[in-house]
Amino acid sequence: MDKPHFYSLPKLPYGYKELAPFMSEEQLRIHHEKHHQAYVTGANALFEKLEQARKAGGELDMKAALKELSFHIGGHLLHGLFWENLAPAGKGGGGKPAGVLGAAIDKEFGGFERFQKEFTQAAVSAEGSGWAALSWCRMSNRPLVMQIEKHNVDVCPALPVILAIDVWEHAYYLDYRNMRAKFVEAFWNIVNWAEANRRFTALLKSAAA
Ligand code: MN
Repeated sequence: MDKPHFYSLPKLPYGYKELAPFMSEEQLRIHHEKHHQAYVTGANALFEKLEQARKAGGELDMKAALKELSFHIGGHLLHGLFWENLAPAGKGGGGKPAGVLGAAIDKEFGGFERFQKEFTQAAVSAEGSGWAALSWCRMSNRPLVMQIEKHNVDVCPALPVILAIDVWEHAYYLDYRNMRAKFVEAFWNIVNWAEANRRFTALLKSAAA
């Protein structure tokens, strides 16, 4: 059977009400059903556009088309990672990282609190429509905090993402208005560390292979 050639909106691994009060049902629903869906729809529309241009043999503004395509793919990829690295508070969400990720964070940052502080500052200060992420650099074998300001230019060549937070206004404005720092504070209650550790463990395995 052919594999699908288009993107699709992934189902959330929890219900829309389950991240409240840290992320309300209304906020989560509009973010997932409208904003994330728009990246999926946008990327698929670009595939159609490219296909039509190939069939017709006509000219296409490749610079514009590819910029738009990478914007939508970056958005789709990051949102997928973001949803998966969240979990309801007390039911997989919150607490501290354990396992190999917890050890790597301790080693690099000197402790969880220092990591949390650096990640929070990265998220709060990301300009415009940005993200903060914990990534892994295979060259230095270090976990790195990074800001992703424009997901179309930063994601494609990126280091693998272990943990991501979306700090576009659409991610928190219904719940926290202009107070992004409150949203970032709330995020720590719904972080899914088990998923982050699973990603990290998989990365270490693939690096060792
Ligand atoms: Mn978003």
